[in-house]
Amino acid sequence: MSLAGKTAVITGSNSGIGLGIARALAQEGVNVVLNSFSDTPEDHALAAEIADVTGVEAKYVQADMSKADDCRRLIVAAGGCDILINNAGIQHVAPIQDFPAEKWDAIIAINMTSAFHTTAAALTGMRERGWGRIINIASAHGLRASPFKSAYVTAKHGVVGMTKVVALETAKEPITANAICPGYVLTPLVEAQIPATAKEYGISEDQAIEKVILAKQPSKEFVTVEQLGGMVVFLCSDAAAQITGTTLSADGGWTAA
Ligand code: NAD
Repeated sequence: MSLAGKTAVITGSNSGIGLGIARALAQEGVNVVLNSFSDTPEDHALAAEIADVTGVEAKYVQADMSKADDCRRLIVAAGGCDILINNAGIQHVAPIQDFPAEKWDAIIAINMTSAFHTTAAALTGMRERGWGRIINIASAHGLRASPFKSAYVTAKHGVVGMTKVVALETAKEPITANAICPGYVLTPLVEAQIPATAKEYGISEDQAIEKVILAKQPSKEFVTVEQLGGMVVFLCSDAAAQITGTTLSADGGWTAA
């Protein structure tokens, strides 16, 4: 079955992985709704550019994924969706005793709770249309822990758990729910960590990438947004109709160890 004409909402998609997934789906003829908390001409221009290049309908909807009402408004503004990609996420790194409570709250809200609200809001429309794909962008940190990432690891493990529950609640319907668990992907979220890591360890940025950031990734290569876009397209295909409630890792072998 072709994906052409279906509609996808991708949270947190004016940058990085979300934008890459939006481009990959648009290449398949899927109409895409981009999102972030900002509302700039550049945000809207991204949607216009995707529409221009691929010929699909593309729009940008401002909605702050830290707010329950905004999460649900995003789905309404999209007119419902066939494909929901819960991707919005932020990071903060600190030992738990120093972890700012407001950062904890923001990470849990944006990285985890937003997926609860968008999924709840999107399911009715998927059931009416008789088809749906829910894909949560979790992380290798949804399966493994690292020190100093208490909120992020908690949120990503939570997303993996919620994915399984949604899969069971939709198991008898033509709707699937899965989580993609990437290792490190070179996006603004990770780029920001490179100079800080180099400074902290007193090493070059290249050494910071190899010896610290990719230390857990046996392939020693970053995952690319194009690879993740391809995984999303696969999960939306007929071949993946019986894949539900699971995690798909793209982490260069990280979680094999
Ligand atoms: P990114 O910083 O490029 O993208 C994050 C996106 O989330 C941006 O579009 C940003 O605007 C949006 N966002 C942040 N706060 C928001 C809010 N309150 N409301 C709406 N949107 C908001 O980072 P990325 O690496 O592309 O991350 C995307 C997802 O992938 C995140 O959930 C992240 O945890 C996950 N992930 C990233 C990596 C990696 O190595 N980059 C690895 C595993 C998982």
